[in-house]
Amino acid sequence: MRLVPNQAFAWMNVPIRLRPAGGENAFCVSNRVTPVRQRRNDPVNTSWSKADLHIHTNYSSDGTASVIDILEYVAANTDLRVIAVTDHDRIDGALEARQIAGSYGIEVIVGEEVSTVEGHMLALFIEEPLLPHCPAAETIAAVHAQGGLCIPAHPYGWRVPSMGQTRLHERCVGPDCEWPIDAIETFNAGLWLARNNVQAAAVARQLNMPGCGGSDSHHLPTLGLGYTQFPGTTAADLRAAIKSGQIQAGGMQWTLGHNVEFIKRWLVGQTQRVLRPSTP
Ligand SMILES: [Zn+2]
Ligand SMILES: [Zn+2]
Repeated sequence: MRLVPNQAFAWMNVPIRLRPAGGENAFCVSNRVTPVRQRRNDPVNTSWSKADLHIHTNYSSDGTASVIDILEYVAANTDLRVIAVTDHDRIDGALEARQIAGSYGIEVIVGEEVSTVEGHMLALFIEEPLLPHCPAAETIAAVHAQGGLCIPAHPYGWRVPSMGQTRLHERCVGPDCEWPIDAIETFNAGLWLARNNVQAAAVARQLNMPGCGGSDSHHLPTLGLGYTQFPGTTAADLRAAIKSGQIQAGGMQWTLGHNVEFIKRWLVGQTQRVLRPSTP
């Protein structure tokens, strides 16, 4: 697949931001923020689980990790119970992940980060791939027709195709609104500017919309950096929690080191794709 510049280089079009003093809590951004360490020790949350709702495999043109590598890494290095595989404009990697996830003790939601005319949108709990580059209103209807959920991705990301830049805050108001979405991605770990997540969380509050979190991982070390907490343990529990608004988004943003490592892995992956065109 040929690279699409906006997808392949979206993460590069922003200035470098170093990790500030204050540790991972300095990066906690959500619509209802609780510091990560405090949350881990909070007995109220002991029956809650974590899900990363925004992960790319190497089926995405800019992803670097295979499905198996992702499942192995998540099982060995994170406390995620559920992940959503959301490759750009395709679901074959997600279907493969769901098929083999059981042996890793993980549940996989089949998803897609679909490119709409007005920006990227996460479609979760789908079974059929979505036609890209359609108006968002049509894509939302297509997702709902197959029982899926619609979540604008990084809605205020700088120089990333994003629905927040096309009047998200106006088009989701009221029962007969133009964009009847189900939640908003209020924490995207891959964004360089923390204020873009703060803005998304503010709009989610304004619209009384649940806020989801995800890593937007394109390589292994960033898996789980962004997450959605929900009561229960299964994908079905998570779906119910999104519908009822009982979720919390949080995490920490990619560091400079994560970005440098990603560039290295991406360059290696592109070289392999050229040498082995059949690689997905
Ligand atoms: Zn995106
Ligand atoms: Zn993404």
